[in-house]
Amino acid sequence: MKTVGLIGGMSWESTLYYYENLNGYAARELGGLHSAKCLVYSVDFAELEPLQAAGKWDECGRIMAAAARSLERAGADFLALCTNTMHIAAPAIERAAKIPLLHIADAAADELSRLGVRHAALLGTRYTLRNGFLAERLAARGVETLLPPEPDIDALDAAIFSELCLGVVRDETRGLYLDAARALIGRGAEAVLLGCTELGMLVKPGDLPAPVIDSAGAHVKAIWNAMANG
Ligand code: GLU
Repeated sequence: MKTVGLIGGMSWESTLYYYENLNGYAARELGGLHSAKCLVYSVDFAELEPLQAAGKWDECGRIMAAAARSLERAGADFLALCTNTMHIAAPAIERAAKIPLLHIADAAADELSRLGVRHAALLGTRYTLRNGFLAERLAARGVETLLPPEPDIDALDAAIFSELCLGVVRDETRGLYLDAARALIGRGAEAVLLGCTELGMLVKPGDLPAPVIDSAGAHVKAIWNAMANG
């Protein structure tokens, strides 16, 4: 089994999901006392979030690159960043480390392609929706993304930082997300991509009249495959 270096803490709620579910794969697929070989570099999100809000992505990149180098030195065979948003800094990580980064968009694209989806609703932070780094990588894999209307993006984003990243799950917020997703399905989305690693806490498969792909779930599956078979 290979060792994954997880860069997490953004938020720790979703990093916990990665740790728990990688070990779930190890237990189910290998049985007995098997568990997943992980190194976790968990940042203090309160130091990162203001840099995101100020658009200081180069500074974010320097912090992510330092985390990547630490994990490489500690013996990770490859890296995974347990958040969509910070993949804006993926190029800085890739420049800093010799070991590969398993990009979350590639994991999501694998799942969407497996279902034959060509048009996916994308939900996530305001950075993920407005920056284009995820949509462009999906487009390169033949998946076009549909976004919520611009005036709705800030309210959807606010719920991520003021609720989900703090472990708070509210029915009213679920309603907001389901309405946004249904509107995008009405505009032609064949599936809904939860492009934020906390959104799986809120929206479940079966909540919507189209397949729901959780970026965190797709990422964990791809990481496990790389650990077990790579
Ligand atoms: N975990 C989130 C994501 O997947 C958002 C938190 C952040 O801004 O890093 O985008």
